[in-house]
Amino acid sequence: MSVLVVDAGRVGGQLVSLYGDKPVHDWPGYHHIIAADLAGHLVEHARLLEVEMVGNRKVLDVTRRDGGFAVMARDVVTGEEHHHEANAVIIAIGGGAFEPRRLKVPGEAGLGEDQLTYRMPDRATAAGRRVVVVGGGDSGLESAQSAHEAGGRVTMLQVLDRFTGMETNIDKVNQMEIPRHFNTRVKELELQDGRLHAVVAQTKGAPSPLRLECDYLVVNIGAAVNLDAVKRWGIETEGNQIKVDPSMRTSVEGMFSCGDIVTYEGKYKLLITASSEGAVAANAAYVHVRKPARLTMGELYT
Ligand SMILES: Cc1cc2nc3c(=O)[nH]c(=O)nc-3n(C[C@H](O)[C@H](O)[C@H](O)COP(=O)(O)OP(=O)(O)OC[C@H]3O[C@@H](n4cnc5c(N)ncnc54)[C@H](O)[C@@H]3O)c2cc1C
Repeated sequence: MSVLVVDAGRVGGQLVSLYGDKPVHDWPGYHHIIAADLAGHLVEHARLLEVEMVGNRKVLDVTRRDGGFAVMARDVVTGEEHHHEANAVIIAIGGGAFEPRRLKVPGEAGLGEDQLTYRMPDRATAAGRRVVVVGGGDSGLESAQSAHEAGGRVTMLQVLDRFTGMETNIDKVNQMEIPRHFNTRVKELELQDGRLHAVVAQTKGAPSPLRLECDYLVVNIGAAVNLDAVKRWGIETEGNQIKVDPSMRTSVEGMFSCGDIVTYEGKYKLLITASSEGAVAANAAYVHVRKPARLTMGELYT
Protein backbone atom coordinates (compact mmCIF):
# COMPACT_ATOMS: atom_id res chain seq x y z
CA MET A 1 0.00 0.00 0.00
CA SER A 2 1.14 3.56 -0.39
CA VAL A 3 1.66 5.25 2.96
CA LEU A 4 1.99 8.87 3.98
CA VAL A 5 3.04 9.88 7.50
CA VAL A 6 1.95 13.41 8.43
CA ASP A 7 3.48 14.86 11.59
CA ALA A 8 2.73 18.19 13.24
CA GLY A 9 6.30 18.42 14.53
CA ARG A 10 9.45 16.46 13.79
CA VAL A 11 8.97 12.98 12.37
CA GLY A 12 10.21 10.72 15.17
CA GLY A 13 7.78 11.84 17.88
CA GLN A 14 8.82 12.05 21.52
CA LEU A 15 12.14 10.32 20.79
CA VAL A 16 13.36 13.42 18.99
CA SER A 17 11.07 16.13 20.34
CA LEU A 18 11.20 15.39 24.06
CA TYR A 19 14.29 13.36 24.92
CA GLY A 20 16.66 13.15 21.97
CA ASP A 21 19.80 12.81 24.16
CA LYS A 22 18.46 10.12 26.49
CA PRO A 23 19.59 6.51 26.28
CA VAL A 24 16.71 4.08 25.78
CA HIS A 25 17.35 0.82 27.65
CA ASP A 26 14.30 -1.21 26.68
CA TRP A 27 14.39 -1.41 22.89
CA PRO A 28 15.04 -5.04 21.90
CA GLY A 29 18.39 -5.75 20.32
CA TYR A 30 20.21 -2.84 21.97
CA HIS A 31 21.57 -2.72 25.50
CA HIS A 32 20.98 0.99 25.14
CA ILE A 33 20.54 3.39 22.26
CA ILE A 34 20.32 7.19 22.21
CA ALA A 35 16.70 8.17 21.52
CA ALA A 36 17.44 10.39 18.51
CA ASP A 37 19.56 7.62 16.94
CA LEU A 38 16.76 5.08 17.43
CA ALA A 39 14.32 7.50 15.77
CA GLY A 40 16.83 7.98 12.93
CA HIS A 41 17.01 4.22 12.33
CA LEU A 42 13.21 3.90 12.35
CA VAL A 43 12.75 6.80 9.94
CA GLU A 44 15.48 5.53 7.63
CA HIS A 45 13.93 2.05 7.62
CA ALA A 46 10.53 3.49 6.68
CA ARG A 47 12.12 5.65 3.95
CA LEU A 48 13.77 2.56 2.42
CA LEU A 49 10.30 1.01 2.29
CA GLU A 50 9.23 4.11 0.33
CA VAL A 51 7.01 5.49 3.06
CA GLU A 52 6.49 9.18 2.41
CA MET A 53 6.94 11.37 5.52
CA VAL A 54 6.31 15.05 6.10
CA GLY A 55 6.91 17.06 9.26
CA ASN A 56 5.57 20.43 10.44
CA ARG A 57 2.15 19.56 9.06
CA LYS A 58 -0.70 19.32 11.54
CA VAL A 59 -3.81 17.32 10.68
CA LEU A 60 -6.84 19.44 11.50
CA ASP A 61 -9.69 17.61 9.86
CA VAL A 62 -10.60 14.14 8.69
CA THR A 63 -13.91 13.69 6.87
CA ARG A 64 -15.51 10.77 5.05
CA ARG A 65 -15.39 10.91 1.27
CA ASP A 66 -16.27 8.30 -1.38
CA GLY A 67 -15.87 5.36 0.99
CA GLY A 68 -12.53 6.72 2.20
CA PHE A 69 -11.33 9.85 3.95
CA ALA A 70 -10.30 13.38 3.08
CA VAL A 71 -7.54 14.62 5.37
CA MET A 72 -6.88 18.31 5.75
CA ALA A 73 -3.55 19.38 7.25
CA ARG A 74 -1.87 22.75 7.71
CA ASP A 75 1.81 23.58 7.47
CA VAL A 76 2.62 24.93 10.94
CA VAL A 77 5.26 27.30 9.54
CA THR A 78 3.68 28.73 6.37
CA GLY A 79 0.00 28.13 7.21
CA GLU A 80 -0.51 26.51 3.81
CA GLU A 81 -3.33 23.93 3.62
CA HIS A 82 -2.69 20.44 2.28
CA HIS A 83 -5.35 17.90 1.30
CA HIS A 84 -4.74 14.16 1.25
CA GLU A 85 -7.01 11.28 0.29
CA ALA A 86 -6.88 7.97 2.12
CA ASN A 87 -8.66 4.64 2.16
CA ALA A 88 -7.72 4.19 5.80
CA VAL A 89 -6.35 6.46 8.51
CA ILE A 90 -4.17 5.46 11.47
CA ILE A 91 -4.14 7.99 14.27
CA ALA A 92 -0.86 7.84 16.21
CA ILE A 93 -0.82 11.29 17.78
CA GLY A 94 0.86 10.22 21.03
CA GLY A 95 0.60 12.90 23.67
CA GLY A 96 -0.86 15.29 21.08
CA ALA A 97 1.07 17.93 19.25
CA PHE A 98 3.27 18.48 22.32
CA GLU A 99 1.46 21.18 24.18
CA PRO A 100 3.23 20.76 27.50
CA ARG A 101 1.37 21.64 30.66
CA ARG A 102 2.67 24.94 32.01
CA LEU A 103 3.12 26.10 35.59
CA LYS A 104 0.89 29.14 34.98
CA VAL A 105 2.84 31.29 37.45
CA PRO A 106 4.16 34.87 37.22
CA GLY A 107 7.50 35.14 35.39
CA GLU A 108 6.98 32.05 33.25
CA ALA A 109 6.03 33.69 29.98
CA GLY A 110 8.77 34.82 27.65
CA LEU A 111 11.75 32.91 29.11
CA GLY A 112 13.98 31.41 26.42
CA GLU A 113 14.66 27.67 25.96
CA ASP A 114 18.11 28.14 27.58
CA GLN A 115 16.41 29.14 30.86
CA LEU A 116 13.13 27.25 30.86
CA THR A 117 12.34 24.02 29.08
CA TYR A 118 9.33 21.70 29.11
CA ARG A 119 11.39 18.89 27.53
CA MET A 120 14.38 17.02 28.87
CA PRO A 121 17.18 19.46 29.72
CA ASP A 122 19.89 20.19 27.20
CA ARG A 123 23.03 18.69 28.75
CA ALA A 124 25.38 21.48 27.66
CA THR A 125 23.01 24.10 29.11
CA ALA A 126 22.66 22.17 32.39
CA ALA A 127 26.43 21.75 32.90
CA GLY A 128 27.68 23.78 35.88
CA ARG A 129 24.32 25.51 36.42
CA ARG A 130 21.72 25.50 39.17
CA VAL A 131 18.94 23.38 37.75
CA VAL A 132 15.46 22.99 39.24
CA VAL A 133 13.36 20.13 37.89
CA VAL A 134 9.61 20.35 38.51
CA GLY A 135 7.76 17.03 38.31
CA GLY A 136 8.32 13.64 39.92
CA GLY A 137 7.13 11.24 37.23
CA ASP A 138 9.45 9.37 34.86
CA SER A 139 10.09 12.47 32.73
CA GLY A 140 11.10 14.57 35.76
CA LEU A 141 13.20 11.75 37.22
CA GLU A 142 15.02 11.20 33.94
CA SER A 143 15.56 14.93 33.43
CA ALA A 144 17.05 15.19 36.93
CA GLN A 145 19.43 12.29 36.23
CA SER A 146 20.48 13.74 32.89
CA ALA A 147 21.13 17.24 34.29
CA HIS A 148 23.03 15.73 37.27
CA GLU A 149 25.20 13.59 34.95
CA ALA A 150 25.88 16.65 32.80
CA GLY A 151 27.29 18.44 35.86
CA GLY A 152 24.28 20.52 36.86
CA ARG A 153 23.43 21.17 40.53
CA VAL A 154 19.93 19.75 40.57
CA THR A 155 16.98 20.15 42.96
CA MET A 156 13.64 18.48 42.35
CA LEU A 157 10.21 19.84 43.25
CA GLN A 158 7.24 17.50 43.34
CA VAL A 159 3.68 18.49 44.15
CA LEU A 160 2.80 15.04 45.52
CA ASP A 161 4.21 13.40 48.66
CA ARG A 162 6.26 10.87 46.61
CA PHE A 163 7.74 10.23 43.19
CA THR A 164 5.41 8.48 40.76
CA GLY A 165 7.90 7.06 38.21
CA MET A 166 9.41 3.62 37.75
CA GLU A 167 11.33 2.09 40.65
CA THR A 168 14.57 2.05 38.61
CA ASN A 169 14.27 5.78 37.96
CA ILE A 170 13.54 6.53 41.62
CA ASP A 171 16.51 4.35 42.68
CA LYS A 172 18.88 6.22 40.34
CA VAL A 173 17.77 9.62 41.66
CA ASN A 174 18.25 8.32 45.22
CA GLN A 175 21.73 6.99 44.40
CA MET A 176 22.63 10.39 42.94
CA GLU A 177 21.37 11.94 46.20
CA ILE A 178 19.52 14.62 44.28
CA PRO A 179 17.85 16.97 46.78
CA ARG A 180 14.06 17.02 46.52
CA HIS A 181 11.07 18.78 48.08
CA PHE A 182 7.77 16.90 48.16
CA ASN A 183 4.30 18.42 48.64
CA THR A 184 5.72 21.53 47.02
CA ARG A 185 4.11 23.73 44.37
CA VAL A 186 5.85 26.47 42.37
CA LYS A 187 4.29 29.88 43.00
CA GLU A 188 6.47 32.33 41.13
CA LEU A 189 9.62 32.71 39.06
CA GLU A 190 11.86 35.60 40.06
CA LEU A 191 13.61 37.36 37.21
CA GLN A 192 16.58 39.71 37.33
CA ASP A 193 17.29 41.85 34.24
CA GLY A 194 14.89 39.63 32.30
CA ARG A 195 16.72 36.43 33.21
CA LEU A 196 15.57 33.65 35.50
CA HIS A 197 17.05 34.12 38.96
CA ALA A 198 15.03 32.04 41.46
CA VAL A 199 12.07 29.73 41.86
CA VAL A 200 9.67 30.48 44.70
CA ALA A 201 7.62 27.51 45.89
CA GLN A 202 5.33 26.64 48.78
CA THR A 203 5.59 23.39 50.70
CA LYS A 204 2.32 22.25 52.28
CA GLY A 205 2.25 23.25 55.94
CA ALA A 206 5.53 25.24 55.82
CA PRO A 207 5.35 28.69 57.49
CA SER A 208 7.18 30.50 54.69
CA PRO A 209 7.86 29.94 50.99
CA LEU A 210 10.94 28.14 49.70
CA ARG A 211 13.27 30.17 47.48
CA LEU A 212 15.75 28.32 45.26
CA GLU A 213 18.25 30.22 43.16
CA CYS A 214 18.07 28.80 39.67
CA ASP A 215 19.60 29.36 36.22
CA TYR A 216 17.81 26.60 34.33
CA LEU A 217 14.27 25.42 35.06
CA VAL A 218 12.98 22.12 33.72
CA VAL A 219 9.21 21.61 33.90
CA ASN A 220 8.00 18.05 33.27
CA ILE A 221 4.42 18.05 34.53
CA GLY A 222 2.76 16.32 31.59
CA ALA A 223 1.10 17.41 28.40
CA ALA A 224 -2.32 18.95 28.02
CA VAL A 225 -3.90 16.61 25.52
CA ASN A 226 -6.72 18.14 23.54
CA LEU A 227 -8.92 15.58 21.83
CA ASP A 228 -11.55 18.02 20.56
CA ALA A 229 -10.48 17.46 16.93
CA VAL A 230 -10.51 13.68 17.30
CA LYS A 231 -14.00 13.86 18.80
CA ARG A 232 -15.11 16.02 15.86
CA TRP A 233 -13.97 13.24 13.55
CA GLY A 234 -16.56 11.06 15.32
CA ILE A 235 -14.14 8.86 17.25
CA GLU A 236 -15.17 7.52 20.64
CA THR A 237 -12.82 8.51 23.45
CA GLU A 238 -12.38 7.62 27.11
CA GLY A 239 -10.86 10.36 29.23
CA ASN A 240 -7.99 11.69 27.17
CA GLN A 241 -7.52 8.50 25.17
CA ILE A 242 -8.95 6.90 22.05
CA LYS A 243 -10.79 3.63 22.62
CA VAL A 244 -9.65 0.75 20.40
CA ASP A 245 -10.52 -2.93 20.06
CA PRO A 246 -7.82 -5.64 19.94
CA SER A 247 -7.36 -4.96 16.19
CA MET A 248 -6.70 -1.28 16.93
CA ARG A 249 -9.99 -0.30 15.31
CA THR A 250 -11.61 2.89 16.61
CA SER A 251 -15.36 3.41 16.67
CA VAL A 252 -15.17 4.78 13.08
CA GLU A 253 -14.81 2.15 10.38
CA GLY A 254 -11.56 2.65 8.45
CA MET A 255 -9.93 4.65 11.22
CA PHE A 256 -7.37 2.88 13.39
CA SER A 257 -5.22 4.11 16.22
CA CYS A 258 -2.09 3.08 18.13
CA GLY A 259 0.53 4.30 20.58
CA ASP A 260 0.26 6.55 23.62
CA ILE A 261 -3.09 7.97 22.55
CA VAL A 262 -5.00 4.68 22.78
CA THR A 263 -6.52 2.93 25.74
CA TYR A 264 -7.47 -0.68 26.38
CA GLU A 265 -7.14 -2.94 29.37
CA GLY A 266 -3.46 -3.55 30.08
CA LYS A 267 -2.15 -0.64 27.99
CA TYR A 268 1.45 0.46 28.62
CA LYS A 269 2.88 3.69 27.22
CA LEU A 270 6.13 2.33 25.84
CA LEU A 271 7.97 2.35 22.52
CA ILE A 272 7.71 -1.40 22.13
CA THR A 273 3.97 -1.55 22.83
CA ALA A 274 3.38 1.44 20.52
CA SER A 275 5.33 -0.36 17.78
CA SER A 276 3.45 -3.60 18.30
CA GLU A 277 0.14 -1.78 18.17
CA GLY A 278 1.37 -0.03 15.02
CA ALA A 279 1.92 -3.40 13.35
CA VAL A 280 -1.57 -4.54 14.35
CA ALA A 281 -3.13 -1.26 13.15
CA ALA A 282 -1.26 -1.46 9.83
CA ASN A 283 -2.42 -5.02 9.21
CA ALA A 284 -5.99 -4.15 10.19
CA ALA A 285 -5.84 -1.20 7.77
CA TYR A 286 -4.56 -3.55 5.06
CA VAL A 287 -7.50 -5.90 5.62
CA HIS A 288 -9.89 -2.93 5.55
CA VAL A 289 -8.50 -1.56 2.28
CA ARG A 290 -7.69 -4.70 0.31
CA LYS A 291 -10.33 -6.97 1.79
CA PRO A 292 -8.38 -10.18 1.14
CA ALA A 293 -10.51 -13.34 1.13
CA ARG A 294 -8.10 -14.83 3.65
CA LEU A 295 -5.23 -13.07 5.39
CA THR A 296 -2.26 -15.40 5.35
CA MET A 297 1.12 -14.84 6.93
CA GLY A 298 2.64 -15.24 3.45
CA GLU A 299 0.65 -12.25 2.34
CA LEU A 300 1.98 -10.16 5.21
CA TYR A 301 5.58 -11.21 4.70
CA THR A 302 5.86 -10.50 0.97
C1 LIG B 1 11.01 11.69 28.98
C2 LIG B 1 10.43 10.42 28.39
C3 LIG B 1 11.21 9.29 28.36
C4 LIG B 1 10.71 8.09 27.81
N1 LIG B 1 11.52 7.00 27.78
C5 LIG B 1 11.08 5.83 27.27
C6 LIG B 1 11.91 4.69 27.25
O1 LIG B 1 13.06 4.72 27.67
N2 LIG B 1 11.40 3.52 26.74
C7 LIG B 1 10.12 3.45 26.27
O2 LIG B 1 9.71 2.36 25.80
N3 LIG B 1 9.30 4.55 26.26
C8 LIG B 1 9.74 5.73 26.76
N4 LIG B 1 8.92 6.83 26.77
C9 LIG B 1 7.55 6.71 26.21
C10 LIG B 1 7.60 6.69 24.67
O3 LIG B 1 8.33 7.82 24.20
C11 LIG B 1 6.17 6.75 24.11
O4 LIG B 1 5.45 5.63 24.59
C12 LIG B 1 6.19 6.73 22.58
O5 LIG B 1 6.90 7.84 22.07
C13 LIG B 1 4.78 6.74 22.04
O6 LIG B 1 4.85 6.82 20.65
P1 LIG B 1 3.64 7.42 19.80
O7 LIG B 1 3.99 7.22 18.37
O8 LIG B 1 2.36 6.88 20.31
O9 LIG B 1 3.59 8.95 20.15
P2 LIG B 1 4.64 10.15 20.00
O10 LIG B 1 6.04 9.71 20.10
O11 LIG B 1 4.12 11.18 20.99
O12 LIG B 1 4.42 10.68 18.53
C14 LIG B 1 3.22 11.30 18.17
C15 LIG B 1 3.45 12.23 17.02
O13 LIG B 1 2.19 12.71 16.55
C16 LIG B 1 2.33 14.05 16.17
N5 LIG B 1 1.00 14.70 16.20
C17 LIG B 1 0.22 14.96 17.27
N6 LIG B 1 -0.94 15.56 16.88
C18 LIG B 1 -0.87 15.64 15.53
C19 LIG B 1 -1.74 16.16 14.52
N7 LIG B 1 -2.95 16.68 14.81
N8 LIG B 1 -1.33 16.10 13.22
C20 LIG B 1 -0.14 15.56 12.88
N9 LIG B 1 0.73 15.05 13.80
C21 LIG B 1 0.36 15.10 15.09
C22 LIG B 1 3.30 14.64 17.17
O14 LIG B 1 3.95 15.78 16.60
C23 LIG B 1 4.27 13.47 17.39
O15 LIG B 1 5.42 13.55 16.59
C24 LIG B 1 9.39 8.05 27.30
C25 LIG B 1 8.59 9.20 27.31
C26 LIG B 1 9.10 10.39 27.85
C27 LIG B 1 8.24 11.61 27.85
